[in-house]
Amino acid sequence: MKYLFDLHTHTIASGHAYSTLQENIAAARDAGLKYYGFSDHTGSDHQDAFRNSWFTNFKVIPREIYGVHVLRGAETNLIDYEGHYDLSHKTAAKLDYMILSIHGNTYETSTAEVNTESLIKAMKDPYVRIIGHPDDGRFPLLAEPLAAAVRENGVLLELNNSSLREGTHRTNTRENNLELLRACMKCGTMICLGSDAHISFDVGRFREAETLLEETGFPDELIANLTEEGLSRIIGDKKAY
Ligand SMILES: [Zn+2]
Ligand SMILES: [Zn+2]
Repeated sequence: MKYLFDLHTHTIASGHAYSTLQENIAAARDAGLKYYGFSDHTGSDHQDAFRNSWFTNFKVIPREIYGVHVLRGAETNLIDYEGHYDLSHKTAAKLDYMILSIHGNTYETSTAEVNTESLIKAMKDPYVRIIGHPDDGRFPLLAEPLAAAVRENGVLLELNNSSLREGTHRTNTRENNLELLRACMKCGTMICLGSDAHISFDVGRFREAETLLEETGFPDELIANLTEEGLSRIIGDKKAY
């Protein structure tokens, strides 16, 4: 399949990833992507002195590098049961898109009902565009209510390739993703493939995700990465820079 973009990637700014922005963009070009988005972690959960200023000087980054359109994002953390996250609205407004994910170091897990409700509250925030790796068994979710709310709120659900790779610290991801994909098919909910690359070699890598798409017979029309329209669903008119 021909994918246009990968918006879930990390650079060395995340503290536990190993490639520079430039290396990731070169990898995106080599993978044949038209758009590349970087989405480093927000918040103070990782010990990086330059964390906050990282998100405030993106203006120096050219919009096109190595023939690839560069999109500026963040992966923020859900921090409570009210749908709040750890990035200011002022900073979020300057990004092209934001992924919101549940991570154990910033969120105390609860029942599937409460976790789902917390994510649904977060979706109401206009800067939240993608719900990242909703497949981790350590933070149980209700697949169908989640898929329905994602559609209703005009955001996208991620199918995270790293979750499906051997050695992932996330649990029960294969089964959870199968359930989520089936719920998305039932509700007509659009998904977004994300590599969640923490090193350049993984940028644009969706091999494991593809296995599940095949297994469920997931329709191309519901995969954002295949069309410009799919990208517009995430970033609006921001690519018209
Ligand atoms: Zn994450
Ligand atoms: Zn990530």
